[in-house]
Amino acid sequence: MSQLTSRRAFLGAAAFRENSNIVRPPGSVVPGFSDQCSKCGDCVEACPESVIVIGQDGYPVFQPTEGPCTFCGSCAQSCPTDALDIERLQDWPWRASVEAVSCLSVNGVSCRVCQDNCEQNVISFRLQLGGRADPSLDLDACTGCGSCTVSCPVNAVTLKRQTISQTEVSQ
Ligand code: SF4
Ligand code: SF4
Ligand code: SF4
Repeated sequence: MSQLTSRRAFLGAAAFRENSNIVRPPGSVVPGFSDQCSKCGDCVEACPESVIVIGQDGYPVFQPTEGPCTFCGSCAQSCPTDALDIERLQDWPWRASVEAVSCLSVNGVSCRVCQDNCEQNVISFRLQLGGRADPSLDLDACTGCGSCTVSCPVNAVTLKRQTISQTEVSQ
């Protein structure tokens, strides 16, 4: 394999990893997180909110289970490599997304748990016929803190990497 071909293969692999839905800790470098991270676990220990765990691949993942990320930056400050950088905290690309097919409210069951747990008032509901209500998200106000993902009783809310054509409710 030529040097150029092997570099293309390397960049392709990095891009593939970047396109995954794995949410790395705030301040993570993209692409190439797994090339920079030494799997030391310091960010897991540093997080006062316990929203970082070691994932199945051995690398840290952002996984709120009790409360939201406060974006305090302790994880990034603890990182001994370039995998996390506090300067990148403001570039957090993840925003809430509601999967309509699973959402109780969309399916006619009264539920506003995600709305009640969002301090940013991102989530509202539009009443529909038949007792249904469709969630509507103000993504400009969403911080990607993850509180709504934890609170949803049917795991209908996830964090999605924001893109230009992102829609607020996935079908
Ligand atoms: S920014 Fe703070 S609260 Fe958020 S994951 Fe990092 S250490 Fe935890
Ligand atoms: S502190 Fe940095 S190098 Fe260590 S596991 Fe976390 S991201 Fe990886
Ligand atoms: S991620 Fe945080 S700010 Fe965004 S909708 Fe969920 S609770 Fe609200």
